Amino acid sequence: MIPADRKQVYYQALIDKKSEYEGIFYVGVKTTGVFCRPTCPARKPKFENCEFYETAKEALLASFRPCQRCRPLSHPNHVSELVRKLVEAVEENPEHRWREEDFRRLSVDASTARRQFKKRFGMTFVEYARARRMGMALKQIRAGSAVIDAQLSTGYESGSGFRDAFSRIMGAAPAQLGEQRILKASWLDTRLGPMVAIADEQALYLLEFVDRRGLEREIERLRKRTKAAIIPGSTPPIESIERELTDYFAGRLTEFKTPVTLLGSPFQKEVWDQLRKIPPGQTTSYAHLAAGMGKPSAYRAVAQANGANQLAILIPCHRVINSNGELGGYGGGLSRKQWLLDHEKLGVAE
Ligand SMILES: [Zn+2]
Repeated sequence: MIPADRKQVYYQALIDKKSEYEGIFYVGVKTTGVFCRPTCPARKPKFENCEFYETAKEALLASFRPCQRCRPLSHPNHVSELVRKLVEAVEENPEHRWREEDFRRLSVDASTARRQFKKRFGMTFVEYARARRMGMALKQIRAGSAVIDAQLSTGYESGSGFRDAFSRIMGAAPAQLGEQRILKASWLDTRLGPMVAIADEQALYLLEFVDRRGLEREIERLRKRTKAAIIPGSTPPIESIERELTDYFAGRLTEFKTPVTLLGSPFQKEVWDQLRKIPPGQTTSYAHLAAGMGKPSAYRAVAQANGANQLAILIPCHRVINSNGELGGYGGGLSRKQWLLDHEKLGVAE
């Protein structure tokens, strides 16, 4: 997260087209869906329509596409002919999954491409192409789910467009998996909109609303930490959480028993354990949680660990609200948080 005061500095640099900020930040423009360099000659957006990123990769993962005018990935002074050629090839068909023969077709050596991309953008070419593709898919999901808030009161039905976008994010099984570890990902329709569940044969690793901000980064992080291929499919823990979610939404279940694997620091895990001890129908605050852990001054770190939770609903980070009684934040959206809290209160009252 970029602090608010730094965003103001970046915005001013954007307005003044300050070239010394080249490579320091990129700006995503919410109204147009493109991201730019600070010196872009195009008309400058309003502050409230800007999202700032310190790497191009983050801008791509947030579904922004490179601006045609300032070409944030193809600055002529910084970038080789080969990198420019590949970036343009990706833009011609951003949903394409790159294979060896694509490099051959462009007469490009794949390992040179990997090295040059890594040096320029801090990611390999294949990672770049994947980031762009996932950004596209996630954007389509978000476009389709913008109406979720309005549907919360009437029940939710997902369209097949969501499923198509989902397979595009996760992709099909690689041709040769060899010894590689496998995680499987499933789409779960719930009362509050579609969720994605990722698990191996033993445990659940991730459960999130598909339109959650930053989901693509979370999935990338999971892929890296587990060194696993993520392919569509189901496993016993996924079947289990699907059953449990059905019961939870029907008000028949208050305690989840699906086995989980928590990937995080010892401190984060301690926070997540504490979260699981908050009974349904009750709420607490970060300060209170921190005090309960014997670390009353660590409430900011507690809040961060809360935000890093990758198992929505199951680890009930939605039960943490502000000390003053206000709802506070929620990665899945505040209307969902309110709904979950109301739902759990009702369950306890019955
Ligand atoms: Zn631009």
